[in-house]
Amino acid sequence: MKHTEVAVAGGGIVGLTIALELASMGRQVTVFERQRAMSEASWAAGGMLAAADPENPPALHSLSELSRSLYPQFLARVAELSGMKVPIRTRQTIQGTSHLPYGFFTLDATTLNTLAPGIETDGRSFFLLEEDSLSPRDLARALPPAVRAAGVALHEDCPVLSAQENGSHVKLATAQGEWTADILIHATGAWTAELTGAPSTPRKGQMIEVQLPQSAQLDVVLRTEEIYLIPRGQGRVVIGATVEDAGFDKEIDPRAIEELMATAASLWPPVRGAEIVETWAGLRPASPDELPMIGPLENGAEQKKRREQRIWLAAGHFRNGILLAPGTARLMRQMITGATPSVDPAPFRCDRFALSSGQ
Ligand SMILES: Cc1cc2nc3c(=O)[nH]c(=O)nc-3n(C[C@H](O)[C@H](O)[C@H](O)COP(=O)(O)OP(=O)(O)OC[C@H]3O[C@@H](n4cnc5c(N)ncnc54)[C@H](O)[C@@H]3O)c2cc1C
Repeated sequence: MKHTEVAVAGGGIVGLTIALELASMGRQVTVFERQRAMSEASWAAGGMLAAADPENPPALHSLSELSRSLYPQFLARVAELSGMKVPIRTRQTIQGTSHLPYGFFTLDATTLNTLAPGIETDGRSFFLLEEDSLSPRDLARALPPAVRAAGVALHEDCPVLSAQENGSHVKLATAQGEWTADILIHATGAWTAELTGAPSTPRKGQMIEVQLPQSAQLDVVLRTEEIYLIPRGQGRVVIGATVEDAGFDKEIDPRAIEELMATAASLWPPVRGAEIVETWAGLRPASPDELPMIGPLENGAEQKKRREQRIWLAAGHFRNGILLAPGTARLMRQMITGATPSVDPAPFRCDRFALSSGQ
């Protein structure tokens, strides 16, 4: 039986970023990924680092800000290790809202039309956010090699089939044999309930990429409560997204695509002439209160009885897992090593929910 200090189940952005953080402090880390790393929600995402989205739950604020502050060094480290740069594609977002949040100012019509020529306000106020976006496809190319270069063993096509705490270690059954680990971190996204019983359910998002006609140009993200348009450069724009409870189904529904295109065109009419170049769907991992679950996978009473915590959880990042990954990794490292957390982990405690019989 093989042994690793830290086992991570799940090779999405959350699992890989935690692996990178722990490997950087000298831990021996092994990641087990059911299929290809970065091929699920972390590949399908829009890539907005939307820390100031007024739709975000207020309890997410401190973790969002921590993550946002860590992003430049995270991307620099990925580039240094992989030799691949993950560029920031946009630096600003124009947010449309029916209720202007405190501290923001409505953009005047001239400024609005300069930033997003042709935008239809439809009675909404628009304000400007200094907010970055990146392409998750860039990250999906660079992060797995970066993690490997940091010394992490990344086993693809290797699902964790079961995991049990066994005295001084955790015993794992994987598709490529049995392992023991000092600690195990579950980061299996929408599939987390299967192994842990923690309530992370899939929320389907259908997405479109279009090629704009030459006459149209967009350099900032446009976002309302209903729709977002994210420029990727060279006239490509990603439009999203549906939020559906459809189990693990990732089929594309042409009616949903038509509706997304119509909603996008009602906000920004120049998109009407665009050619659809790709459609896809991904599964956001959502907890019942739409906040992530980060911490020990046990209830408080059981945890107090033990000296060492062996099984941990980082899942349920819902609409913001790309943004939240570096902050989650930092918080996880601090909790595992007993360091003072940079943000209060209380809103993300796993024991705010009962576990089902999955564990
Ligand atoms: C359409 C859409 C748009 C989005 N837009 C944004 C955005 O603009 N900004 C943002 O911040 N976030 C966005 N998100 C959310 C973000 O993509 C997710 O929150 C994030 O990717 C979750 O990362 P993860 O690593 O937890 O999950 P995933 O990326 O799904 O990774 C989980 C991994 O675990 C693996 N796995 C499952 N079971 C096992 C097992 N038993 N053993 C081993 N491996 C297993 C899976 O194969 C998968 O690779 C969006 C999501 C979607 C779907």
